[in-house]
Amino acid sequence: MDDCIFCKIIKGEIPATKVYEDEEILIFKDIAPIAKIHLLCVPKEHFAYLRELNPSREALLGRTLKKIADLSEKLGLSDGYRLIVNQGESAGQTVKHLHIHILGGETLPWGV
Ligand code: 5GP
Ligand code: ZN
Repeated sequence: MDDCIFCKIIKGEIPATKVYEDEEILIFKDIAPIAKIHLLCVPKEHFAYLRELNPSREALLGRTLKKIADLSEKLGLSDGYRLIVNQGESAGQTVKHLHIHILGGETLPWGV
């Protein structure tokens, strides 16, 4: 997607602080953190919504969640972390490339 900011970050056309990368996902720091640790995990394949999942993307998402869990200690999240996937306008999704917010590094308040 030519006009997708996360695709540009994945291609290295826009700078970002990358913390993990493999052939199918990238994890980088959110530019406007709302917690002490605020990372974004994106699949390298562009799609925007969970409703676009197919068997191959479902498997990718499963591997991605396991990878986040495996990396949690290395990412400074041993005390716990929260994953958020905003879907659609009213949930506040501003970037139309599926992304998992990874929040942690402190005690997180619960809210909407
Ligand atoms: P959403 O609101 O779509 O769930 O989350 C988008 C997130 O991307 C926001 O938390 C926002 O701060 C982050 N973001 C937007 N543009 C950039 C960027 O250019 N670089 C980085 N690192 N994060 C971005
Ligand atoms: Zn994209």
